[in-house]
Amino acid sequence: MSLLDIHVLGSPVLRKETELVPKITDEIRRLADDMLETMYAAKGIGLAAPQVGRLERIAVIDVETGPFAIVNPELVTLEGKVKGEEGCLSIPEIYGDVERAARVVVRAMGLDGKSFELEATELLGRCLQHEIDHLHGRLFLDHLGAFRRKTAMQKWEKRRKEYPTYLRKVTPAEIADHKEDAL
Ligand code: ZN
Repeated sequence: MSLLDIHVLGSPVLRKETELVPKITDEIRRLADDMLETMYAAKGIGLAAPQVGRLERIAVIDVETGPFAIVNPELVTLEGKVKGEEGCLSIPEIYGDVERAARVVVRAMGLDGKSFELEATELLGRCLQHEIDHLHGRLFLDHLGAFRRKTAMQKWEKRRKEYPTYLRKVTPAEIADHKEDAL
């Protein structure tokens, strides 16, 4: 396994549409492993392929449920509304309240090549919606109102200088079980 660089806001790949994964190959499994390792090192709970510069439609998640991957995920049910704070490994240190569906059902393919459905609420439900957004070039900032978005962008303007090439180098985590809620 190896750690991948995380693309930060401003890198064009974050705005691209991803491509369906036709089948699970060793390369896809390796990508998922590397993404998980990178996610843990960055103390995240979710990571989508565009965040590591890849356009396969795949994301990895571990919201205290154990790690799993969603390949070609689709939101088949969205119910209710709930607001909650979100951050993103691609927009470090910036947070905002985002309205999401309160309950979702996601259909996806697992790394075993079998399709499955997952019902989720609360943090897992939010994480799934955030990662699926990434797979279609959307970021949590897009869900903020004009004023909050502007404030977040002003904060980001100060931080982006730390990432002149829009890449965030991740170093191995010493304590992998200490997680922040960044997706
Ligand atoms: Zn994110």
